[in-house]
Amino acid sequence: KDDVKGFFLRNAFVIFTVAAVIIGIGLGFALRPYKMTYREVKYFSFPGELLMRMLQMLVLPLLVSSLITGMAALDSRASGKMGMRAVVYYMITTVIAVFIGIATVLIIHPGKGSKDEFKNQQKIEQVSPADAFLDLIRNMFPPNIVEACTHQFKTQHGKRVVHMKMTVNNTLFMLNGTESQYVTREEVIPVPGQVNGVNALGLVVFSISFGLIISNMKEKGQPLRDFFDCLNEAILRLVAVIMWYAPIGIMFLIAGKIVEMDDITEMGSQLGMYTMTVIIGLTIHAIVVLPTLYFVITRKNPFIFIGGLLQALVTALGTSSSSATLPITFKCLEENNGIDKRVTRFVLPVGATINMDGTALYEALAALFIAQVNNMDLNFGQILTISITATAASIGAAGIPQAGLVTMVIVLTSVGLPTDDISLIIAVDWFLDRLRTTTNVLGDSIGAGIVAYLSRHELQSRDAEMGSSVVEE
Ligand code: ASP
Repeated sequence: KDDVKGFFLRNAFVIFTVAAVIIGIGLGFALRPYKMTYREVKYFSFPGELLMRMLQMLVLPLLVSSLITGMAALDSRASGKMGMRAVVYYMITTVIAVFIGIATVLIIHPGKGSKDEFKNQQKIEQVSPADAFLDLIRNMFPPNIVEACTHQFKTQHGKRVVHMKMTVNNTLFMLNGTESQYVTREEVIPVPGQVNGVNALGLVVFSISFGLIISNMKEKGQPLRDFFDCLNEAILRLVAVIMWYAPIGIMFLIAGKIVEMDDITEMGSQLGMYTMTVIIGLTIHAIVVLPTLYFVITRKNPFIFIGGLLQALVTALGTSSSSATLPITFKCLEENNGIDKRVTRFVLPVGATINMDGTALYEALAALFIAQVNNMDLNFGQILTISITATAASIGAAGIPQAGLVTMVIVLTSVGLPTDDISLIIAVDWFLDRLRTTTNVLGDSIGAGIVAYLSRHELQSRDAEMGSSVVEE
């Protein structure tokens, strides 16, 4: 009996979270016949909205403090090696993901060259790929670090937009307007690399440089090292509290989404096939490729590793945001899977910002689907262009809901596909977004596992050098 109780206590989080998903799905379908209004759905999913806000509240301090302490805890040679490994891992897995996306859509061929069955067409703002790339680089160097932490959306007229909201069916972005005036979605260019309006990419670059500098400052840097270390610890303790609320939030997020989704039976057969194709592609990447890679390199059972991540994966499914999931991913990796903090502190925040396997796979697949629908035969060069821009677009996409849909503009324009056709797939994006976000989080986590394994010797020798007291927290 004690065993049963012990098992329950040890796995309480996972049990609650999985139960939350199941209850959420059941509740959602049970409430669908009542045809709630938009406002009623908003009220109903309020506990879910609260979870999103709580998690997002922690992202910024967590991202900055973990990167700075992560960098400061290692000498620059060790962190350079770890960084290289992480970046190589990100690149390899992203390329594989793009390849799988392209292969599945070419083999299954879900698009049949007719746009008749698609309704719900909308206009989407045209962005030139060159501008989008420059914006990506620009965002790496925020001129004002305080401003980088606040909402900033540019309109075409260069006005700052204070608040932003996303909906699924009617529009991609709905803006609450600048301080003085309301703007329509058409007037807005989403800025790549942003999390919840925050310039995450810029903060990542700043925090890494800052951490590297204070790691070289010997005793003088100690107060700063202590400060960020303590901040990091405190944030993670807050995460531990929020984790108890997470299942409730996830339940309402999922139920609310199911209540408001479009009728599945009305979904056209092409869109159905498309959805299936994406699911197959993501499944191959998440269940075959990543675990195999983990096994080949570490010789450890990948599914035990994934088991420890369950709560993070379900949170990704519930929130559609890899940044919002970041706090939970930290907890799972460090506490369940025993990954060294010096590794998670670097690999996870950077991964959540730039490494998105699911998004890369999705963008390549979706672009080719749109080509199929338009009866366009792409040659090898064009497919290669799609794979390169899909990789760039996944780096530029922020870890927020449906960011991938926005950066897809880059992919489509690169081969002359109509960007308006993004509207063809909007109806199912809320769902596919959840799946690619889960794949993104899995990719970052397996990356942390692999980098920790490859860096074990350096970490050990660093421990020996420093004496265990400094490192063991
Ligand atoms: N929602 C995804 C994420 O947070 C990004 C995307 O839209 O593909 O990881």
